[in-house]
Amino acid sequence: MIPPGLLYALTLLPLLAPMRAPGAVAFGANNEQVQAAPASCLKLRKHGDEARARSCFESLLRSDQGVPGGAAAYLRAEGSWGLEHYQEANAEFRSAVTLAPANTLYRVRWGRLLHERFNNKDAAGLFAEALARDPRTPQAYLGLALVSADGYDDRAFEWVNKALAADPRLVEAHELKASLALEDSDTEQAAREADAALALADDALDALAVHASIEVLADRAPEAWLARIAHVNPHYGRGAALVAHHLVLNLRYEDGIAYYRKALEAEPRLWAARSELGLNLMRLGRDAEARAELVRCYEAGYRNEATVNSLRLLDSYANFARLADDTTVLRLHKKEADLLYPYFHAELERDIADYERKYHMKLPGPVQVEVYPDHEDFAVRTLGMPGLGALGVTFGSVVAMDSPSARKPGEFHWASTLRHEMSHVFILTATHHRVPRWFTEGLAVHEETQSSPEWGDPLTPDIVVALRDKKLLPVAELDRGFVRPQYPAQVIVSYYQAGRICDYIQSRWGADKLLEMVQSFAERLSTPRTISERLGMRTEEFDAAFQSWLYADLPPAVAHFEEWRQRLARLAAQAEQQQLDAVIKEGGAVIGLYPQYVYDGNAYELLAAAHAAKGDQSDAIHVLEQYARAGGRSPRILEDLARMQEHQGERAAAAATLERINYIDPGYDETLHRKLGQLWLAEKNYPGAIREFSAVLALRPLDRVSAEFDLAQAYFASGAREQALDAVLAALETAPGYRPAQKLLLQIKGQ
Ligand SMILES: [Zn+2]
Repeated sequence: MIPPGLLYALTLLPLLAPMRAPGAVAFGANNEQVQAAPASCLKLRKHGDEARARSCFESLLRSDQGVPGGAAAYLRAEGSWGLEHYQEANAEFRSAVTLAPANTLYRVRWGRLLHERFNNKDAAGLFAEALARDPRTPQAYLGLALVSADGYDDRAFEWVNKALAADPRLVEAHELKASLALEDSDTEQAAREADAALALADDALDALAVHASIEVLADRAPEAWLARIAHVNPHYGRGAALVAHHLVLNLRYEDGIAYYRKALEAEPRLWAARSELGLNLMRLGRDAEARAELVRCYEAGYRNEATVNSLRLLDSYANFARLADDTTVLRLHKKEADLLYPYFHAELERDIADYERKYHMKLPGPVQVEVYPDHEDFAVRTLGMPGLGALGVTFGSVVAMDSPSARKPGEFHWASTLRHEMSHVFILTATHHRVPRWFTEGLAVHEETQSSPEWGDPLTPDIVVALRDKKLLPVAELDRGFVRPQYPAQVIVSYYQAGRICDYIQSRWGADKLLEMVQSFAERLSTPRTISERLGMRTEEFDAAFQSWLYADLPPAVAHFEEWRQRLARLAAQAEQQQLDAVIKEGGAVIGLYPQYVYDGNAYELLAAAHAAKGDQSDAIHVLEQYARAGGRSPRILEDLARMQEHQGERAAAAATLERINYIDPGYDETLHRKLGQLWLAEKNYPGAIREFSAVLALRPLDRVSAEFDLAQAYFASGAREQALDAVLAALETAPGYRPAQKLLLQIKGQ
């Protein structure tokens, strides 16, 4: 229903003919004078006097007589914008800037229009142009701060501080800074900046909304602040929408939805809030309601990226199968549902059982897990959320994640990701969504390796470098590392740090201590108070104790990163030149410097290849088994390992290696499922054999007959006579003359 190739940005129309109407006011070219009339219209709107605001904007449209060219076009631009005639406004701004190229106000206001109409790129360009003409334009810095804030970019603070340095009385900059601080969970700074705005203007509505947000987030009553907003303007929906924004950011989706509804009650035409409402309904799996809200936005011309892409995603759900039982709902793409369902369903049930036991609780309803083979579809689920680039995301009891087929094989371990997300489902439920981001992420990362030490993400070079440079954040500020990274790797470093903090707490105080902390967070205790009451120390002491524990156990590469890098490069060169003895002599030492390095061009692979080339198969196996235990997950390397293990007669080990590939990408190679099925059949693991031969069939093999026959054999061996009969008849239907199947049919019938 959504036409392809929509323009998110405004179409740049040719200049409109100037309007000729009487009654216009005369203006000089001075910015302040020119700005006074639009400012008075905006003030009327801010105070809820919509009728007078509209006639005020209409009067601006009549500006031309006696007004210098640029100023007249500018005023008409403001008038059109106020009346929501965005394309006309855009054309008038363009005209104003052409007529008065040196004017910074016109550029800044044009940028603000584009920012409001989803074109941050061109908006930022206009703000930068204004600053090139006058580097002390506070409104241009504010514009850049707004653009950065949209992307959770760390520079938002830098820009807003520059705006305030240029004009400490810029109310909107104080309000934005307050909201940014609250996004970073810095409540004190948020309150301080909101107060600064209110000291300058008692109608600083967003400052009042920040105060209301602080109260709501702390589970205190926000009514006094909301009443002050309503007193200024009962139709100011943006206030409640700002509260909703902070709730969603704090993982409180249901509460966020309630506040977006409040916002729309006050201001039904607040499309940004309606779009967010739709998005969050979709996140919680309420697709029909979500669609209705998003369609209303779309039809009203509010077509930002999130709205359009979410509508597209809702449409694409027709291509997904929905497989449900009492406790689970799996939404899998039809092209891979047959293959993935048995693996995902088994793992999901295991996760639920493990967490119920571990966290002493049950979930109130089924969990929905959505698995996206197209990463862009998954990305739509995280639009407008910080920490992009994730593999999975949890909204209450709905989990959305990449399918193994969405990524390069070996890039991620889907079962580990699912276990991570399922920890969120339980912890968000247990705390009624009141848990700091660092703790729920840390616990989820910690849980990945509790299932198996091979799971989770092995220490990446980015993290090694951050550790070398001592870039970990104090625990009390760790949330900031997730929401507004200050260097590119900070989000993944923060995941790692939070995970290791939970590892540390478990190793020093025991697993129950983590549950006690969950309890404290559910009671709204802050991180410093939780650490003080549960662990008996101040956060500074905790940081020091944690870091000395952590650093004692890090690989040598943290202190000797450059040495490791150079020795690995030399090893690769030696391998390239077939200097096998040199590779064998040096390989172990390179691995020892950084055993967690299992990524591209790792030393395990080079060393194992050298052993294999010299005919030392058991040494090669030994090295690759180390690789697998260290979390190595290239299906190609694991496939080699399984082949060698089988060749050496190590059937159980070969089967275990092939199982590892299933956790990485069940769609990797049909022949591996066949191989694993045969190994399981030989080991009398019939359910395993049945699952693997079914996977072969789900991958639509060219040789369908033998796959059906294999499956029939596995069913027959397991004693499932009916299913064996169905499978063997399917084989005979495809190839009636297939002798082994005829024989098996007789055996089944003779039984
Ligand atoms: Zn997570």
